[in-house]
Amino acid sequence: MQDNLEKPVLNTLNKEYSRERKLSFLERIYLPEVFKALWYTLKQMFSPKFTMNYPEEKWDPPSIFRGRPVLVEDNGQERCVACGLCARACPPLAISMQANEDSDDPKERYPDFFEINMLRCIYCGFCEEVCPEEAIVMSKDYDIVFESREQAIYDKERLLVPKEDLEERLEYLRNYRNNQFGQFWDFQEENNIHSVRDRDQNWESGLSLVDILEQQKKIDETKASSTWS
Ligand code: SF4
Ligand code: SF4
Repeated sequence: MQDNLEKPVLNTLNKEYSRERKLSFLERIYLPEVFKALWYTLKQMFSPKFTMNYPEEKWDPPSIFRGRPVLVEDNGQERCVACGLCARACPPLAISMQANEDSDDPKERYPDFFEINMLRCIYCGFCEEVCPEEAIVMSKDYDIVFESREQAIYDKERLLVPKEDLEERLEYLRNYRNNQFGQFWDFQEENNIHSVRDRDQNWESGLSLVDILEQQKKIDETKASSTWS
């Protein structure tokens, strides 16, 4: 057979295909190849299986796996402070949100609505990387089904997952996040407090942010005067 490859023969039907290889008798009847394929199939029937009977058997991905992005629910409340960084970093513009404020809440800001369009999401994980609150993470969920475009838009209620169920991913992030900068990411829960009011209590010198904002408000309200006549 090897000889055949090296010795092209003249095709009597068409001179242009003069390099066409001449098949041997066995090659022309195909039977050896058919038996080879049957033998291969038979061997595979008795070798160990690498497939799963999905959906009865589900795969449990490792913590490095990037599945559906979800919002972290911490003590019954979202960690998200609606800063908008994830929406800004998202390459296919899949995230949209509206921030709101609640003065009784220690973190003051929260997303009024938060949506991810899963038809757009490319599972890049940029939202998770930029989030300063560890409030959005890539889950293990790969089983994503919807029957209409509307169903593909995940709202806050469908996105929220308790932090206890995301412990593996959060641990993975703690160990490996931002390694490229020579630092280990260590999320501090007290960082989640963005309250101007609380920071104001700790400030001892100069104007507090509240005073600065008050001052700015007064300046904005003052009518512009002019000495031009
Ligand atoms: S994983 Fe990527 S594409 Fe999906 S929402 Fe996050 S930033 Fe956007
Ligand atoms: S980056 Fe984090 S905190 Fe900011 S809006 Fe996105 S999920 Fe919320």
